Amino acid sequence: MSQPLPLVAGNWKMNGLRASLTEAEALARQLDGNDAITAQVMICPPATLIAPLAAVLEGSSILIGGQDCHVNASGAHTGDIAAEMLADAGASAVIVGHSERRADHGETNDVVRAKAEAGYRAELISIICIGETERERAQGDTLNVVSEQLSGSLPGAATSGNTVIAYEPVWAIGTGLTPTLDDVGEVHQHIRAELTRRLGGDEGAAMRILYGGSVKPGNAAELMAIKNVNGALVGGASLKASDFWGIISVYSER
Ligand code: PEP
Repeated sequence: MSQPLPLVAGNWKMNGLRASLTEAEALARQLDGNDAITAQVMICPPATLIAPLAAVLEGSSILIGGQDCHVNASGAHTGDIAAEMLADAGASAVIVGHSERRADHGETNDVVRAKAEAGYRAELISIICIGETERERAQGDTLNVVSEQLSGSLPGAATSGNTVIAYEPVWAIGTGLTPTLDDVGEVHQHIRAELTRRLGGDEGAAMRILYGGSVKPGNAAELMAIKNVNGALVGGASLKASDFWGIISVYSER
Protein backbone atom coordinates (compact mmCIF):
# COMPACT_ATOMS: atom_id res chain seq x y z
CA MET A 1 0.00 0.00 0.00
CA SER A 2 1.34 3.46 -0.88
CA GLN A 3 2.37 5.76 1.95
CA PRO A 4 0.32 8.89 2.72
CA LEU A 5 1.73 12.12 1.27
CA PRO A 6 3.74 13.67 4.14
CA LEU A 7 2.70 17.06 5.46
CA VAL A 8 4.97 19.53 7.25
CA ALA A 9 2.82 22.23 8.83
CA GLY A 10 4.15 25.29 10.65
CA ASN A 11 2.09 26.69 13.51
CA TRP A 12 3.12 30.31 14.06
CA LYS A 13 0.83 30.54 17.11
CA MET A 14 0.46 34.18 18.30
CA ASN A 15 3.61 35.28 16.50
CA GLY A 16 3.99 37.33 13.36
CA LEU A 17 3.28 40.76 11.96
CA ARG A 18 3.12 41.67 8.29
CA ALA A 19 6.92 41.96 8.30
CA SER A 20 7.04 38.19 8.95
CA LEU A 21 5.60 37.53 5.50
CA THR A 22 9.15 37.85 4.17
CA GLU A 23 9.90 34.51 5.88
CA ALA A 24 7.06 32.89 3.95
CA GLU A 25 8.28 34.47 0.73
CA ALA A 26 11.78 33.15 1.36
CA LEU A 27 10.36 29.68 1.98
CA ALA A 28 8.31 29.80 -1.21
CA ARG A 29 11.44 30.75 -3.18
CA GLN A 30 13.20 27.66 -1.81
CA LEU A 31 10.29 25.28 -2.21
CA ASP A 32 8.63 26.17 -5.47
CA GLY A 33 10.42 24.75 -8.44
CA ASN A 34 12.32 22.34 -6.16
CA ASP A 35 10.83 19.07 -7.34
CA ALA A 36 12.98 16.99 -4.99
CA ILE A 37 10.71 17.80 -2.02
CA THR A 38 8.16 15.05 -1.52
CA ALA A 39 6.08 16.63 1.27
CA GLN A 40 3.22 19.10 1.29
CA VAL A 41 4.10 22.28 3.18
CA MET A 42 1.68 24.42 5.15
CA ILE A 43 1.91 27.60 7.20
CA CYS A 44 -0.70 28.34 9.87
CA PRO A 45 -0.20 32.02 10.70
CA PRO A 46 -2.26 34.14 13.09
CA ALA A 47 -5.69 34.87 11.59
CA THR A 48 -4.70 38.47 10.81
CA LEU A 49 -2.06 37.20 8.36
CA ILE A 50 -4.09 34.61 6.45
CA ALA A 51 -5.30 36.96 3.71
CA PRO A 52 -1.98 38.80 3.25
CA LEU A 53 -0.15 35.47 3.29
CA ALA A 54 -2.52 34.13 0.64
CA ALA A 55 -1.68 37.16 -1.50
CA VAL A 56 2.06 36.70 -1.03
CA LEU A 57 1.86 32.95 -1.73
CA GLU A 58 -0.32 33.20 -4.81
CA GLY A 59 0.98 30.61 -7.27
CA SER A 60 3.02 28.85 -4.55
CA SER A 61 2.44 25.24 -3.49
CA ILE A 62 2.54 26.26 0.18
CA LEU A 63 -0.83 25.67 1.82
CA ILE A 64 -2.33 27.96 4.45
CA GLY A 65 -4.13 26.89 7.62
CA GLY A 66 -5.93 28.60 10.48
CA GLN A 67 -5.10 27.81 14.11
CA ASP A 68 -8.65 27.51 15.45
CA CYS A 69 -12.26 28.13 14.43
CA HIS A 70 -15.65 28.56 16.05
CA VAL A 71 -18.16 25.73 15.70
CA ASN A 72 -20.76 28.02 14.07
CA ALA A 73 -20.64 29.59 10.63
CA SER A 74 -21.69 33.05 11.87
CA GLY A 75 -23.37 34.76 14.78
CA ALA A 76 -22.91 36.72 17.98
CA HIS A 77 -19.50 35.37 19.05
CA THR A 78 -17.31 38.40 19.57
CA GLY A 79 -13.69 37.77 18.74
CA ASP A 80 -14.23 34.34 17.23
CA ILE A 81 -13.57 33.26 13.66
CA ALA A 82 -15.71 30.85 11.61
CA ALA A 83 -14.17 28.13 9.48
CA GLU A 84 -15.91 29.74 6.51
CA MET A 85 -14.01 32.97 7.23
CA LEU A 86 -10.70 31.12 7.25
CA ALA A 87 -11.56 29.54 3.91
CA ASP A 88 -12.69 32.90 2.52
CA ALA A 89 -9.36 34.44 3.57
CA GLY A 90 -7.38 31.74 1.76
CA ALA A 91 -6.98 28.83 4.19
CA SER A 92 -7.41 25.22 3.14
CA ALA A 93 -7.00 23.72 6.63
CA VAL A 94 -7.55 24.48 10.29
CA ILE A 95 -5.82 23.20 13.42
CA VAL A 96 -8.33 22.15 16.09
CA GLY A 97 -7.76 20.97 19.65
CA HIS A 98 -4.20 22.21 20.01
CA SER A 99 -3.18 21.56 23.62
CA GLU A 100 -2.78 25.30 24.19
CA ARG A 101 -6.45 25.73 23.30
CA ARG A 102 -7.49 22.71 25.32
CA ALA A 103 -5.60 24.15 28.33
CA ASP A 104 -6.12 27.92 27.90
CA HIS A 105 -9.72 27.78 26.69
CA GLY A 106 -10.97 24.60 28.35
CA GLU A 107 -11.74 22.92 25.03
CA THR A 108 -13.15 19.45 25.56
CA ASN A 109 -13.10 16.57 23.09
CA ASP A 110 -16.74 17.39 22.24
CA VAL A 111 -15.81 20.98 21.38
CA VAL A 112 -12.80 19.84 19.36
CA ARG A 113 -14.98 17.38 17.43
CA ALA A 114 -17.52 20.12 16.67
CA LYS A 115 -14.71 22.39 15.48
CA ALA A 116 -13.35 19.63 13.22
CA GLU A 117 -16.87 19.27 11.78
CA ALA A 118 -17.00 23.04 11.25
CA GLY A 119 -13.79 22.68 9.27
CA TYR A 120 -15.44 20.03 7.04
CA ARG A 121 -18.49 22.26 6.58
CA ALA A 122 -16.17 24.95 5.17
CA GLU A 123 -14.29 22.37 3.07
CA LEU A 124 -11.15 22.73 5.16
CA ILE A 125 -8.88 19.90 6.24
CA SER A 126 -9.16 19.61 10.02
CA ILE A 127 -5.85 18.93 11.78
CA ILE A 128 -6.92 17.37 15.08
CA CYS A 129 -4.33 17.56 17.88
CA ILE A 130 -4.07 15.00 20.65
CA GLY A 131 -1.38 14.22 23.22
CA GLU A 132 -0.66 13.44 26.85
CA THR A 133 0.62 15.69 29.62
CA GLU A 134 3.85 15.01 31.49
CA ARG A 135 1.91 13.64 34.44
CA GLU A 136 -0.17 11.32 32.25
CA ARG A 137 3.00 9.94 30.67
CA ALA A 138 4.64 9.47 34.09
CA GLN A 139 1.55 7.56 35.22
CA GLY A 140 1.75 5.26 32.21
CA ASP A 141 -1.52 6.61 30.82
CA THR A 142 -0.29 7.86 27.45
CA LEU A 143 -2.00 5.31 25.22
CA ASN A 144 -5.29 5.53 27.14
CA VAL A 145 -5.30 9.34 26.97
CA VAL A 146 -4.54 9.32 23.26
CA SER A 147 -7.30 6.76 22.62
CA GLU A 148 -9.80 8.76 24.60
CA GLN A 149 -8.94 12.03 22.87
CA LEU A 150 -9.01 10.38 19.48
CA SER A 151 -12.35 8.68 20.00
CA GLY A 152 -13.87 11.86 21.45
CA SER A 153 -12.42 14.35 18.96
CA LEU A 154 -12.63 12.47 15.66
CA PRO A 155 -15.93 13.14 13.87
CA GLY A 156 -17.92 10.31 12.34
CA ALA A 157 -17.47 12.01 8.96
CA ALA A 158 -13.66 11.94 9.18
CA THR A 159 -11.85 10.62 6.11
CA SER A 160 -8.21 10.52 5.12
CA GLY A 161 -8.99 13.42 2.77
CA ASN A 162 -10.56 15.80 5.26
CA THR A 163 -8.60 14.99 8.43
CA VAL A 164 -5.03 14.90 9.68
CA ILE A 165 -4.12 13.75 13.20
CA ALA A 166 -1.29 15.51 15.04
CA TYR A 167 0.20 13.64 17.98
CA GLU A 168 1.75 16.28 20.22
CA PRO A 169 2.89 15.30 23.70
CA VAL A 170 2.04 18.42 25.72
CA TRP A 171 5.31 18.27 27.63
CA ALA A 172 7.32 18.31 24.41
CA ILE A 173 5.72 21.46 22.99
CA GLY A 174 8.08 24.41 23.10
CA THR A 175 10.32 22.76 25.68
CA GLY A 176 13.13 21.30 23.59
CA LEU A 177 12.19 17.88 25.00
CA THR A 178 11.09 15.00 22.77
CA PRO A 179 9.97 11.46 23.54
CA THR A 180 12.35 8.65 22.61
CA LEU A 181 12.04 7.46 19.05
CA ASP A 182 10.59 4.18 20.37
CA ASP A 183 7.97 6.08 22.36
CA VAL A 184 6.94 8.13 19.31
CA GLY A 185 6.75 4.93 17.26
CA GLU A 186 4.62 3.23 19.90
CA VAL A 187 2.07 6.05 20.06
CA HIS A 188 1.87 6.46 16.28
CA GLN A 189 1.40 2.71 15.88
CA HIS A 190 -1.36 2.87 18.48
CA ILE A 191 -3.08 5.76 16.71
CA ARG A 192 -2.80 3.92 13.39
CA ALA A 193 -4.45 0.85 14.93
CA GLU A 194 -7.27 2.97 16.36
CA LEU A 195 -7.82 4.70 13.02
CA THR A 196 -7.91 1.39 11.21
CA ARG A 197 -10.44 0.05 13.70
CA ARG A 198 -12.62 3.18 13.33
CA LEU A 199 -12.29 3.85 9.60
CA GLY A 200 -11.41 0.49 8.10
CA GLY A 201 -8.10 -0.69 6.68
CA ASP A 202 -7.71 1.55 3.64
CA GLU A 203 -8.87 4.81 5.20
CA GLY A 204 -7.11 4.08 8.48
CA ALA A 205 -3.84 3.50 6.64
CA ALA A 206 -4.25 6.58 4.47
CA MET A 207 -4.92 9.14 7.21
CA ARG A 208 -1.85 11.20 7.98
CA ILE A 209 -0.49 11.21 11.52
CA LEU A 210 1.91 14.08 12.23
CA TYR A 211 4.33 14.25 15.12
CA GLY A 212 4.62 17.61 16.91
CA GLY A 213 6.70 18.76 19.86
CA SER A 214 10.13 20.43 19.59
CA VAL A 215 10.79 19.26 16.03
CA LYS A 216 13.98 21.02 14.85
CA PRO A 217 16.29 20.69 11.85
CA GLY A 218 18.62 18.61 14.07
CA ASN A 219 16.09 15.95 15.08
CA ALA A 220 13.64 16.00 12.15
CA ALA A 221 15.30 13.27 10.10
CA GLU A 222 15.17 10.67 12.86
CA LEU A 223 11.63 11.60 13.92
CA MET A 224 10.26 11.64 10.37
CA ALA A 225 11.84 8.24 9.64
CA ILE A 226 9.69 6.53 12.29
CA LYS A 227 7.01 4.21 10.95
CA ASN A 228 3.55 5.82 10.88
CA VAL A 229 4.98 9.34 11.21
CA ASN A 230 3.62 11.12 8.13
CA GLY A 231 5.04 14.56 8.74
CA ALA A 232 5.33 17.18 11.44
CA LEU A 233 3.45 19.98 13.14
CA VAL A 234 6.14 22.52 13.95
CA GLY A 235 5.88 25.52 16.27
CA GLY A 236 9.00 27.53 17.09
CA ALA A 237 11.14 26.17 14.26
CA SER A 238 8.57 27.22 11.64
CA LEU A 239 9.00 30.93 12.29
CA LYS A 240 12.27 31.26 10.38
CA ALA A 241 12.37 30.05 6.79
CA SER A 242 15.89 28.66 7.23
CA ASP A 243 14.91 26.50 10.23
CA PHE A 244 11.64 25.38 8.67
CA TRP A 245 13.46 24.49 5.48
CA GLY A 246 15.86 22.35 7.53
CA ILE A 247 12.83 20.26 8.56
CA ILE A 248 11.03 20.22 5.21
CA SER A 249 14.17 19.17 3.35
CA VAL A 250 14.22 15.91 5.29
CA TYR A 251 11.60 14.93 2.71
CA SER A 252 13.92 15.20 -0.25
CA GLU A 253 14.41 12.60 -2.96
CA ARG A 254 18.01 13.68 -3.44
C1 PEP B 1 3.13 23.22 18.39
O1 PEP B 1 2.80 24.23 18.97
O2 PEP B 1 2.28 22.62 17.72
C2 PEP B 1 4.51 22.76 18.49
C3 PEP B 1 4.77 21.55 18.11
O3 PEP B 1 5.42 23.64 19.01
P1 PEP B 1 7.02 23.44 19.08
O4 PEP B 1 7.47 22.88 17.76
O5 PEP B 1 7.58 24.81 19.34
O6 PEP B 1 7.29 22.48 20.19
